[in-house]
Amino acid sequence: MRHRIAVVGGGPGGLTCARVLHRLGHPVAVLERDPARDARPPGGMLDLHEGLGQRALEKAGLLTEFRALARPEAQAMRILDTDGTVLRDWRPRPDDRSNPEIDRGQLRDLLLGPLDVRWGRHVTDVLPEPPDGTRVRFADGREETFDLVVGADGARSRVRPALSPTTPHYTGVTLVETSLDDVDARHPDLARLVGDGSMAVYGVNRGLVAQRNSGGHVKVYAQFRVPPEWHAELAATGTEAVRSRLLAMFDGWAAPVLDLLRRGTAFVSRPIHVLPVAHTWTHVPGVTLLGDAAHLMPPLGAGANLAMLEGAELAESVAAASGPEALDEAVRAYEERMWARAGRLAEITTAGLERLVSPDPAEAIALFDEVQPS
Ligand SMILES: Cc1cc2nc3c(=O)[nH]c(=O)nc-3n(C[C@H](O)[C@H](O)[C@H](O)COP(=O)(O)OP(=O)(O)OC[C@H]3O[C@@H](n4cnc5c(N)ncnc54)[C@H](O)[C@@H]3O)c2cc1C
Repeated sequence: MRHRIAVVGGGPGGLTCARVLHRLGHPVAVLERDPARDARPPGGMLDLHEGLGQRALEKAGLLTEFRALARPEAQAMRILDTDGTVLRDWRPRPDDRSNPEIDRGQLRDLLLGPLDVRWGRHVTDVLPEPPDGTRVRFADGREETFDLVVGADGARSRVRPALSPTTPHYTGVTLVETSLDDVDARHPDLARLVGDGSMAVYGVNRGLVAQRNSGGHVKVYAQFRVPPEWHAELAATGTEAVRSRLLAMFDGWAAPVLDLLRRGTAFVSRPIHVLPVAHTWTHVPGVTLLGDAAHLMPPLGAGANLAMLEGAELAESVAAASGPEALDEAVRAYEERMWARAGRLAEITTAGLERLVSPDPAEAIALFDEVQPS
């Protein structure tokens, strides 16, 4: 029995779900708002954990290809004091494959493979109409009905309202992102400072993290606590004004660390929003959620991993279900499992964010000491 399945959103979670369905020979419609695969920059690196994102790629039959693209050396992590003293310098063993990093664009292309995504399909509403299915409405006025709609449409999900009235709230912590290109040739001093992986510096209620991506690209994230109004003010200022504000905020930190902000190009503000730690809903036949749409949490290395594993597991259960009742049972069981696992990780990452952007910078280092291999 072939169910009519729509996956709304072509991020890591939605594409993994679709790719596993495709591998199992089950048709699926991927409905993505972006007009094309390269419509916007894909963003920074993702570290994919052995038991989560890598397990999902194994289910999709893509683990070998992932390993050829991933950068295990990027698991390196260095922590500096605000005066530039190196406090910690972890390097992965040559055979360590536990959390290698991959560029988001490379991961997207790997997952896309043979998938036939419907680009430019902006979903505005999802209307469950059991037992006939779930109606999906698009921004251009078109409508289509499916047996199951999977909301993999991220933080501002348009599918979520069909299941839950909850919306994400601001954590009080903001990231401002900047980047440097061609670091090895143009900024060799900063290339050495950052190393093969990431470098972080923590001060009172703030931190600065730099991460090497492929192709000599470095992403820099300044993180600190500010009230929500700050973003509107920032949006009204230009690049140099933002740079000056950030340099004032990190005043007194070592010159090479501040050079990451001095030489960074454009600045993008990313206020960190989250859903409540134990976000669940009353099951509704014909519609479910995965990834950030279901459990948006602080960006501490879990979100894409969870979204991908959920996508893979949901795809396997749905493909194995024959008939509408079995399909509904499969989705219910998926939701119970997803809530339990995501709830645990939401708790861990929420506590982690409090310790990383904390009045006591020693808390951030203690957190790394707990999670880094000795
Ligand atoms: C700075 C930063 C670093 C991070 N690092 C990591 C990391 O190392 N490891 C990790 O696991 N996680 C990391 N995360 C978290 C991770 O990015 C997210 O958890 C992950 O992208 C969620 O995947 P998703 O598929 O659920 O949603 P998304 O990646 O948000 O994808 C949603 C997709 O849905 C589409 N869409 C949205 N609305 C609609 C609509 N109405 N109609 C149709 N399509 C729509 C979007 O265009 C998008 O393609 C990081 C996050 C940040 C901000």
